[in-house]
Amino acid sequence: MLRQLVYRSRATQKMSEQDIDKIVDDSVPFNKANNITGLLLFDGEFFFQVLEGEGETVHGLFEHIKSDPRHTNVVKVVDSACAQREFGKWHLRTLILNPDNQCYWLPQDLTVRRDSRVFSLLNSFATGRWRSCVSAEDKASVNCIIATSAITLAPYPASQIQFAFQPIVDTRIGGISSYEALLRNQDGTYPELILAGLPEQQRYEFDLNSKAIAITQGAKLLQPGQSLSVNLLPGAITQNKQVVDQLLRYLKEGGLRPEQLILEITESEMVKESDAFFAVIESIRATGIRLSLDDFGAGYAGLSLLADLMPDKIKLDRAITNGIHESGPRQAILHSVFEFANATGSHLIVEGVESFEEWLWLNNTGVRKFQGFLFARPQLNGTQAIHFNARALINQLQD
Ligand code: C2E
Ligand code: MN
Ligand code: MN
Repeated sequence: MLRQLVYRSRATQKMSEQDIDKIVDDSVPFNKANNITGLLLFDGEFFFQVLEGEGETVHGLFEHIKSDPRHTNVVKVVDSACAQREFGKWHLRTLILNPDNQCYWLPQDLTVRRDSRVFSLLNSFATGRWRSCVSAEDKASVNCIIATSAITLAPYPASQIQFAFQPIVDTRIGGISSYEALLRNQDGTYPELILAGLPEQQRYEFDLNSKAIAITQGAKLLQPGQSLSVNLLPGAITQNKQVVDQLLRYLKEGGLRPEQLILEITESEMVKESDAFFAVIESIRATGIRLSLDDFGAGYAGLSLLADLMPDKIKLDRAITNGIHESGPRQAILHSVFEFANATGSHLIVEGVESFEEWLWLNNTGVRKFQGFLFARPQLNGTQAIHFNARALINQLQD
C-alpha cells in the first residue's frame, strides 16, 4: 500500500547548499531503486521531508533517517496510507527556503494539489509557527531537582479496600503539589471488578463512601500547601444527594480544609451535562473544593464540557503524552490545550510521563505540573521517594 510520511527536524550543524546537494546525491540512488519519491525542504535551520512509497520501505528509510547525526528533534507529522503520490516525478526534490522569507512559493515545476495536506504543511512550515524543539541552549539551561522521601502508612483498619498514592510534581516549586489517591485491593492491585461489577446506584455510593478512606489516609501525607486529589465518577457526584455534606465530613475528620481537596471527574462514563449536574458542581465549588477534568483527550468529555465546567485543573491523558517528543499531532494538541488552560486560568497537569525525553519537551514548552512513572509510581498506603535530577539525566542523553 502506498504510504506518505512527513517529518520535521532540526539541523545539528550549519548546512550549505552543497551539504544539501550531498544529501540528495546520497539519497537518490536508494530512492530510485526502492521507488521512493518525495521532497526535502531546508530553511537554514529546520528540515521538512516528505517520503512516499511502499509502507515497509518508507518506515525502514525513516528509521535510518532518524539516526542520521546531521539532525535532531525528529518529529513525525504524518504517517498514513495515500491514494496517489504528490511528488511522483521526484526521487528527492529539494527546496531551500530563505529564512527571512515568511511567504511560501512553489517553483512552477512542482505541482502539489492545493487542497492536499502536504500543501498546507508546506505553508505552515514556511511560517515557522510549529517550531518547538529542545535546542542545545535549552538543554544547557534546564535545571530541576526534585528529591523527596518515601512515606509509609499503616493500612486503613478493617477494610478490604485501600488506596495507593501517586505524587503530582510541580517543577516551579521543585516539589510535590498534590497526591492522587487511587483505589486498590489489599494486595495493591487495582480492583477492576469493584466499580465495574456493582449495579449503578451502589457503584456511585461505593465510590463516594470509599473517599472516607482516601481522605483519611491522604491527609496523613499532606504537607502545608499540598492538596489531595480523589477520583469520582460523575454519577457519584450527581446521584448522591449527600455528596457535599459527606465530603465535608470526611475532610473535617481528616483535618483538611476544603481548599485542600480536588475532585477528579473521571471521563470513564459520559458526563450528563444537565442543570442538575452543574447545580451540584456549583454547590461543591461554594465549599472551596476544587475540580479537575481527568483523562482529558481520551474519554468522553468534549470541548463543551471543558468550556462549561471550567475546571481548576486539566489532566491531559497519557495517550497524548506517550511519545510526545516525536509526534507532531500530539505536540499540536498539547499546544492548544495548554493555550486553553492559560487563557482560562486552569492549571495543566500532564499525566503518564514515563520518559525523560517526554518531560524535556513538555518542560521546554512551559508545562510545570507532571504525574507519571518518571517521578514516582503509585504506592499502596504511602508514597515513593522521588529522585529526579534533570541535569544528571541530560548528561546521560546522547544526542
Ligand atoms: P486515573 O485517574 O487517570 O489515574 C492515573 C492512572 O494512571 C493510575 O492507574 C496510575 O497508576 C496510572 N499511571 C500513573 N502514571 C503513569 C505512567 O507514567 N504510565 C502509565 N502507564 N500509567 C501511569 P490505576 O491506579 O490503575 O487507575 C486507573 C483508573 O481507575 C484511574 O485513572 C481512575 O480513572 C480510576 N480510579 C482509581 N481510583 C478510583 C476511585 O477511587 N474512584 C473512581 N471513580 N475511579 C478510580
Ligand atoms: Mn485521576
Ligand atoms: Mn487520569
